[in-house]
Amino acid sequence: MSEKNIVVKGAREHNLKNIDVTIPRDKLVVITGLSGSGKSSLAFDTIYAEGRRRYVESLSSYARMFLGQVDKPDVDSIDGLSPAISIDQKTTSQNPRSTVGTVTEIYDYLRLLYARIGTPHCPVCGRAIEQQSIDQIVDQVLEFEEGTKLLILAPIVKAKKGEHAKIFEKARKDGYTRVRVDGEIYTLDEEITLEKNKKHTIEIVVDRLVIKPSIRSRLADSIETASKLADGITVVNVIGDKDYIFSQKYACPIHGGSMDELSPRMFSFNNPAGACPKCTGLGVFMKIDEALIIPDSTKSIRQGGIKASGWAMEGSTIALMYMESLSEKYGFSLDTPICELPKDVIHKVLYGTGTERLKLVRRSEYGSGTYETTFEGIVNNLERRFRETKSAWIKEEIESYMSSIPCDECAGKRLSRESLSVTVGGINISEFCDFSIVEALNFLDELELSERGVRHAVRRRKPAYPPRDADRLVSNGSPVYS
Ligand SMILES: [Zn+2]
Ligand SMILES: [Zn+2]
Repeated sequence: MSEKNIVVKGAREHNLKNIDVTIPRDKLVVITGLSGSGKSSLAFDTIYAEGRRRYVESLSSYARMFLGQVDKPDVDSIDGLSPAISIDQKTTSQNPRSTVGTVTEIYDYLRLLYARIGTPHCPVCGRAIEQQSIDQIVDQVLEFEEGTKLLILAPIVKAKKGEHAKIFEKARKDGYTRVRVDGEIYTLDEEITLEKNKKHTIEIVVDRLVIKPSIRSRLADSIETASKLADGITVVNVIGDKDYIFSQKYACPIHGGSMDELSPRMFSFNNPAGACPKCTGLGVFMKIDEALIIPDSTKSIRQGGIKASGWAMEGSTIALMYMESLSEKYGFSLDTPICELPKDVIHKVLYGTGTERLKLVRRSEYGSGTYETTFEGIVNNLERRFRETKSAWIKEEIESYMSSIPCDECAGKRLSRESLSVTVGGINISEFCDFSIVEALNFLDELELSERGVRHAVRRRKPAYPPRDADRLVSNGSPVYS
C-alpha cells in the first residue's frame, strides 16, 4: 500500500471512463474541470464513498446500523486511503439549530462515540452510573477478604414519612426475620413503632453471610432476591464498616431517576430525547435588551430616548398619553435626559407599574376622557406582542430590540442534564464541542479507552431494538437533521 499517494485504478462511477489517478496524500488537492467532467464522481462518489465504506465496515454491526449502508463504488482498486469524511458545499442556513458540526455531519460521529462509550453520571450527585448484572455484583462482593461479615439488604423505603406498619407486616409474612430501619437492625418479631411525621429508611435484611469461596451461589440468590424487592438496588453492608450500593439499572442508587440505554439521539439538541427541556435545544432565549431600546440615554423620553416598536413620542399618540400619565404620577419630567432619571422611574417605564393604576387622559377632537388602568411596561409590552403576533414583519421589528441570553437550565449547552452528565475521558459532549480543533485532536490522541470502551467500540452485544429513524444518523447520504 502506498503511503504517499492515494492510487485509484479503474474508476467507472457515472461518466468516469475507467480512469486511473494518483493523488498525493496529506496535501491540499484541488480537482478542477469543466462542468460534467466527473469531478464529483471522482471525489465524492468514488474516493469518499470508498473511504467512508471502509470506515463503516471497521465498526461494530451495531454502530453500522446507525450509519446506514454505503455501496461499493464502481472502481477496480483504491490504495492509500484512510477513513474519509466529506463536507458538502451547502448554502448557509438561517436555522439557529445548525452548527458547523451538524451541517458537516461530524457531530453525528461524535454522538455515536458518546452513545457507545460514554459514562453516564447522576445529574444530581455526579456519581458514575453503572448498570451491573447480578454476576458482576457477585464478583465484586466476593473480592472482600475472606471472613468479612456482610448483610445483604433490600432498600424498600427511602426517606419517606409514615409508620410503615404494612411494610413490616408484609416482610414478616414473606418470611424475613430482620429489617434495618434508619441504620438500626430490628428483628421482625418485636413491635416496631415509627414516628409518623418523620422520614424513615427501611431495608429488609435478605441474608447474613461470611465471605468464603463456597458462598457464591447463595450470594447470587440473595442479591437477586434483594434486587427484585428493591427495584434493582442492592445494598451490601460490611458489618462494622460501611454500605456498598449496587444497581442493576441505569440509575443512581441514591437519587434513582433511571436513564435509558445511551443512544445517539440523546446527544442531539434537535431531538426531544436530548434537547434541554426548557429552551428546547436552542440554548438561548430572546429577550428585550434595554441597551437596544435606550441607545442614547442623554436624550429625554420626549426626545425619543426610548426607541421601541409602537412607542414613538411624535404626535398625540397613545404612547405619549401613557408617558404623560407616568410622569404625573411619579413626579418626573419627560424632558429630563433618561440617564438623569431615578432608577425606579426607569424601571416603572420599562417593566410596568404592577398593581398601581395610572390615570390616563385621552384628548381627541371630540373632547377628552379620563380612565384608570395599570401599565405593563415597554419591555413587557414588546415581549408580549412578540409572543402573540402572527405578523412576521412585527416579529422581525421587535426582534431588532432583542438579544439572546443563555438558557439558565442548560447554561446555553442545549442538551438535557442527563445527556450532559455523560462523559468520555472525563468531559461531556458540549465541553468537547467547545474545544478548538487543535485541542480536540490532542484530546482524542491522548484519550485512553478503558477495556470496556474498546470492547464497546468494536463489538457490542445485539441491541434489544433496531434503531428508530431518529437514531439513524445518515440516510441516503444526508443527515436526518442538520
Ligand atoms: Zn445521585
Ligand atoms: Zn436550555
